[in-house]
Amino acid sequence: MDEDVTWDDLINLPIDPPLKRDICLKCRRPIAVCYCKYLPSERLNPLCKIVLLQHPAEEKRCLHTATILSLSLKKEKCVVFTGKKFPQNRHTELPDILNSPNTLLLYPSLHAVDVQDLPKVDETSNFYYTLVIIDGTWAQAKTIYNKSTALHSLKQVKLSKRQGSEYIIRTQPTEGCLSTLETAAEALSILENKPFLKTDLLKPLAALCDYQISHGAVIHESKELRLKNHTYPKLIGKRLKKLLEKTCVEETDLNEIVQSHNEKYEKTKLFPMRSTFIT
Ligand SMILES: [Zn+2]
Repeated sequence: MDEDVTWDDLINLPIDPPLKRDICLKCRRPIAVCYCKYLPSERLNPLCKIVLLQHPAEEKRCLHTATILSLSLKKEKCVVFTGKKFPQNRHTELPDILNSPNTLLLYPSLHAVDVQDLPKVDETSNFYYTLVIIDGTWAQAKTIYNKSTALHSLKQVKLSKRQGSEYIIRTQPTEGCLSTLETAAEALSILENKPFLKTDLLKPLAALCDYQISHGAVIHESKELRLKNHTYPKLIGKRLKKLLEKTCVEETDLNEIVQSHNEKYEKTKLFPMRSTFIT
C-alpha cells in the first residue's frame, strides 16, 4: 500500500460533514425557502460601513436577517463580531473601530440623535460613518450594552421614523421595532440619501415573508398592537410592561391598557391560543 496516497486521501477528506442536499450553501436555508435570487445581483457598496455585534444565540436563528445583510453588502462593508460583551481579546479590529470619531451606535437611548439629523455623506465627503448595531433580541441587546462599557462613549443614534416592521414573521415587541436588516437598510439609505439601498436590501426579506404567508404563516402583529386589539394571549408581566414603556410609539395610555388587559384576562381567560411562531 502506498503510504503517500493514503495520506493524501486523508487530507482531502472534508473536515465538516457534508451538508444535506436540500440546503442552499449560500444562505443555509432549505432550498424551498432560499432567498438568494432576491439578493442584489452584485454586492452593494455603500460609502458607510456596518459593524454587527452579534449575540451568539442570534446566529442560530433560522430566519436571521443579519445573514441577508452580510450577503448583500461587500464583505468589507459588513463586519460581524460575536459575543456577549465587546470588545474581547479576539476582536482584534474592534477597538480601533470603537475609537474612531465617525463611529455611531444605533441604540435608542434617551439622548440618542435622530439619524435624519446627522450630516449626510456622499462621494465628495471626506468622512464616512461606521454604524454599530447590536444584533440580538431587545433583552440581549440591552445586556450586551450594559456589559460593554466601550460602547457607552460612542455617539448614539436612533431611527425616529417609526414604521412598523415589514418583517412580520417574527413578533416584534412593539410597533416601532425593526429587525437588524431593516435597521441597517433604513439608516444607510438615510445617511447616504439613496433610497435604493433600502429597497434592494429588503427584497429578500419581503420575498421570504410573502412566501411564508402564502404557505400559511400567521402575520405576527407586534405585542403592542395585539394588546390594543385585545388579542395578546397572556398576562402582561413586569418585564414586558417595562419593555413596552421604553419602546411604545404612544406611551400615554399604556398603564391603562395593561391594567385593563390583565383584568380582562383574569376574568375571562378566553384569549385566543398563542399561534406557533416561525423564527
Ligand atoms: Zn440560498
